[in-house]
Amino acid sequence: DYLVKPFSGRELRARVRTHLELARARREGAESRLKDVFLGLASHELRTPLTGLKLNVQLCQRELAAQGSPLATRLAGLHRSIDRMTRLVNDMLSVSAITEGKLTIHTTRCDLGQICRDAANELIQVSHRALVLDLPDAPVPVVADADRLGQVVANLLSNAIKYSAPDRPVKLTLRVEGHEEGIVRVEDAGPGIPVDALPHIFDRFYRVPTIGVQSGSYVGLGLGLFLAKAIVEQHRGRIWVESAVGKGSTFAFAIPLAGAMGR
Ligand code: ADP
Repeated sequence: DYLVKPFSGRELRARVRTHLELARARREGAESRLKDVFLGLASHELRTPLTGLKLNVQLCQRELAAQGSPLATRLAGLHRSIDRMTRLVNDMLSVSAITEGKLTIHTTRCDLGQICRDAANELIQVSHRALVLDLPDAPVPVVADADRLGQVVANLLSNAIKYSAPDRPVKLTLRVEGHEEGIVRVEDAGPGIPVDALPHIFDRFYRVPTIGVQSGSYVGLGLGLFLAKAIVEQHRGRIWVESAVGKGSTFAFAIPLAGAMGR
């Protein structure tokens, strides 16, 4: 019913603001600025119907499962697609927040190992790919926004899965180095990234032209790595990539440990 609901005054005002902002962006003539404005608007517009969709699918799924209908499994698949879309829309919203200088992080003391484990489990559920995990048993304490860092790990894992063939291994490692930093590494044996693309890899909207973009084989907006970098830097951390064409890529980030450097 959210699809046919008439606009409220607030929505109408938002739409007028939309047009004004788009017109300003067009006058400014900057392609990225236009994309930024569109991104903000599109993501806000997509979020509400997605939430409604998810709730209703959940409801139907429960009802059908109670009746023992085989359709319940189909709806479970639909549910996963909605989760994937929700993640994409959340990335779009976060990128919007960054470009408007409004990305906020809410830090608490948490375990970087648990953040990695949760993100890996989520990705395993969605992609049905086996991941190789090499995580310490002991907690790796950091002062961080667990949701945001989880978003970073999930983005790196989902790229590693997306850009490498289904039979290639994807490995997630966490190490404590020098009692100062927790270092998370996501390693794949995918296509690798050409040297001339490396300096741009964390730019927003950037996608490596030689990696299936033209053929449309891989869906994406070129936002995940930009977002990952912004989030890691908000945590006073570093992010980098090592890659060789034909061999694979390792994306890594380092977060200061809680207690290190006066934290
Ligand atoms: P998206 O994947 O949505 O395009 P990202 O910002 O996550 O956006 O990645 C930017 C680009 O970097 C991708 O389009 C792809 O060309 C390249 N890339 C990212 N991760 C990998 C990877 N693991 N292996 C090869 N190329 C990658």
